[in-house]
Amino acid sequence: MLGLVKPSLPVLSDKKLSGLEKRKVIIVGAGIAGLTSAYFLKKHGFDVLVLEQNDTPGGRMRQIELGGLTVNTGARMLYTFYSVVMELIDELGLENDIEYLGMSELTCHDGQQRYPISFSPNLSLLFNSHIDLASRLKLINILPALLKARFATNPDDMGTCDYLDSESMESYIERKVGKGFLRKIVNPLFRGARNWNANEVSPAFFLTSSAHMSGHKAFTFKQGIGHLAEKLASGLNIDYGVTVNSIQRNAGDSKVLVDYNEQGKQCQLEADLLVCATEGAKITDLITGKSPAEALFFPKIKYNPLGIVYYVLDKIDKHEITFYTQEHPSTLAILETVNSADNKHHLFCELTPESAQIMHANQNQTRMDSLIKEDVRKLYPELDKQLSYSVNQWIEHMLPVFYPGYISSLKAFRQQQSASAQSIYYCGDYLSQALVGGACASGKESAMQIINHWNRQ
Ligand SMILES: Cc1cc2nc3c(=O)[nH]c(=O)nc-3n(C[C@H](O)[C@H](O)[C@H](O)COP(=O)(O)OP(=O)(O)OC[C@H]3O[C@@H](n4cnc5c(N)ncnc54)[C@H](O)[C@@H]3O)c2cc1C
Repeated sequence: MLGLVKPSLPVLSDKKLSGLEKRKVIIVGAGIAGLTSAYFLKKHGFDVLVLEQNDTPGGRMRQIELGGLTVNTGARMLYTFYSVVMELIDELGLENDIEYLGMSELTCHDGQQRYPISFSPNLSLLFNSHIDLASRLKLINILPALLKARFATNPDDMGTCDYLDSESMESYIERKVGKGFLRKIVNPLFRGARNWNANEVSPAFFLTSSAHMSGHKAFTFKQGIGHLAEKLASGLNIDYGVTVNSIQRNAGDSKVLVDYNEQGKQCQLEADLLVCATEGAKITDLITGKSPAEALFFPKIKYNPLGIVYYVLDKIDKHEITFYTQEHPSTLAILETVNSADNKHHLFCELTPESAQIMHANQNQTRMDSLIKEDVRKLYPELDKQLSYSVNQWIEHMLPVFYPGYISSLKAFRQQQSASAQSIYYCGDYLSQALVGGACASGKESAMQIINHWNRQ
């Protein structure tokens, strides 16, 4: 426990540690970005304290109990092309904990027919007779862009794909391949896996991620997706159950003041430096007295919400994942039949982006099952016979939306951050890539900036 309550403000940065005065860094948020930043800063001799509102580490990369079910808060799989993730696995000796994942057989339904789809662009697309022949023949047009992205971009950093920041994914795919490929493959995959519509994002995500899949593997950990975060956290000083309300630069000196709430008590801490590692959507409310660069960049950050309903059933016959196209008359983007590790059979029903927006607008996130149940009955006729109970999971900030033009804003902000010493630094997926690999790389980048700016002074 922090135990520092206003007005008695023992200044942690004044502590002498091992005879050397160490710089005190507070990190707000124990998601994978904050933990990675803390890990590298501690390794370089900084005195680091992490403040986390939840009672476990990992943010959107862990598992929690919800209505008697074990559910993911976000990420389900990692890829071996996440370079900082792989570096940490190596440093922490977690190689033997990796569990490689086979390619799931995915199907898609467009209201008329069911057909196979896959996450990575591959040759089988050429023979998929459910896509019109003209689109299939034009697939070749995308090959040079994928090859260029493989060599010219870093999959952990969408900033390296700024040459594709000016148009939407929808117009890019229509222009290069055609509407058929967009409707049948790209849109259902993006709506399902990311809950984004192709007209809302730039093609940078598709190119930076898809171009690097070939030759790499998807994996999780035998202990669960939160294992990496737990291992990182075990070597760090973290206070859980602490909600930070405001962060401000102290006018009198270069220190940072953090107001937080712990067990109903309002408290304050002071640090030499701070890394803000919360979801990007929250930072504008947290930072008081923004610099001109912060005031310019923060309003540009957007996240999308996600709604999931789990129907717990007596039995499931087989595991299947179905994505639905935008033309399918359903409130669902994905329906998956799951036999989970804790032996709870359930249907995983992910709402379409439009249904999630309706729930958000009506503040009806605890009653999502009532919106989709009729559709689930049609798609899974055994529902009523087998249903035990349902659980609603709402994720307010699912993923940063890399809409056309956003990459140039984030690059300008990152450049400003790295150019000279700051007292407040930032990391998270919204500064890099909407994947664990990006969040982790951004965490390391924030630590390296601090080390470069402050270790020499
Ligand atoms: C449904 C879903 C599926 C996904 N699937 C994948 C996938 O399969 N593979 C993949 O690579 N990526 C996936 N992602 C993306 C990935 O999970 C995220 O990009 C990544 O985990 C983000 O890490 P982060 O550290 O930037 O943010 P977060 O994990 O969100 O960490 C932010 C932390 O800050 C804490 N915090 C916030 N506000 C405060 C406050 N005021 N005071 C104290 N603490 C605070 C939060 O509790 C949280 O712990 C998925 C995401 C979602 C939501």
